[in-house]
Amino acid sequence: MSRGLGILVAASLISWGVPEGGLRGAPLAVEEVAAGVFVHVGETADFTPGNRGGIANLGFVVGEEAVAVIDTGGSAAQGRDWLETVRSITDRPIRWVVVTHVHPDHMLGTAAFAGVGATVWGHAALPRAIAERGPSYLARMADLLGPAVEGTSLPRIDETVVEGELRELDLGGRVLELRAWPTAHTDGDLTVFDRATGTLFAGDLLFVERLPVIDGSLPGWLAVLDRLAALPARRVVPGHGPATAPWPAALAAERAYLKELRDAVRAVLRRGLSLARAVTAVPPPHPGNWRLIEPDHGRNVVAAYTELEWE
Ligand SMILES: [Zn+2]
Repeated sequence: MSRGLGILVAASLISWGVPEGGLRGAPLAVEEVAAGVFVHVGETADFTPGNRGGIANLGFVVGEEAVAVIDTGGSAAQGRDWLETVRSITDRPIRWVVVTHVHPDHMLGTAAFAGVGATVWGHAALPRAIAERGPSYLARMADLLGPAVEGTSLPRIDETVVEGELRELDLGGRVLELRAWPTAHTDGDLTVFDRATGTLFAGDLLFVERLPVIDGSLPGWLAVLDRLAALPARRVVPGHGPATAPWPAALAAERAYLKELRDAVRAVLRRGLSLARAVTAVPPPHPGNWRLIEPDHGRNVVAAYTELEWE
């Protein structure tokens, strides 16, 4: 069986809902969304032993001289398969790994890339976030993934990008722009922009189809979306959702949800409702736009309430 056919079969199994656990040890399905830009689409699901934490979109970009990987998956097992996937497509050196933020589905496969000598990049706030939250993430993932989490460790971040700074990675014939953003989805969100193809890896600054989760700042996220929209991208790879989405139209549904949430929470605060009552008083969004609405919508109401009550 040719390599290409193998990837096609893997893709069709996933699209028919076969748990990725059934493909353990196999390359992950990837799609070349632009010349030299590859994306693996994570499952739209919560963490399960079957998906080994593989619920986020992952990517890599191949230059004339080197490769950069963007996010590494939710466990050591997925990270090893991700490395194998990159290796099945290019033998150019994997010089950089970019971790878009602290959430476990994006970063817990990073250790697999230490062995190939890759330099790991993140937001300047990322090392502290990993130190503070990492141990509890590992414990929680052990509960949720079971044996699939075996061997998983926290990533070491080698290089960081300060908020407002622009750093460039020259892959040979193409340059990636790394940007560190103010607090939005988390307090350490990093994006990657491939100038050559106009492809923006937004990390979890953009959710498509899966309901966004607020772990940073609701007004901060809305402000970042306005700035993000100004980037001259042609397509975006969201942290969750399809491999790519049109730019900047893909921002609209998330922005609408976050604005409605902000306005609804401000309204219940004006009415003097308690946090417990706010959770039931702020209606969930229309299910037509979003999957996995609960429990994340309820969590978002709590996050918004506790932030906005101090306005
Ligand atoms: Zn996230």
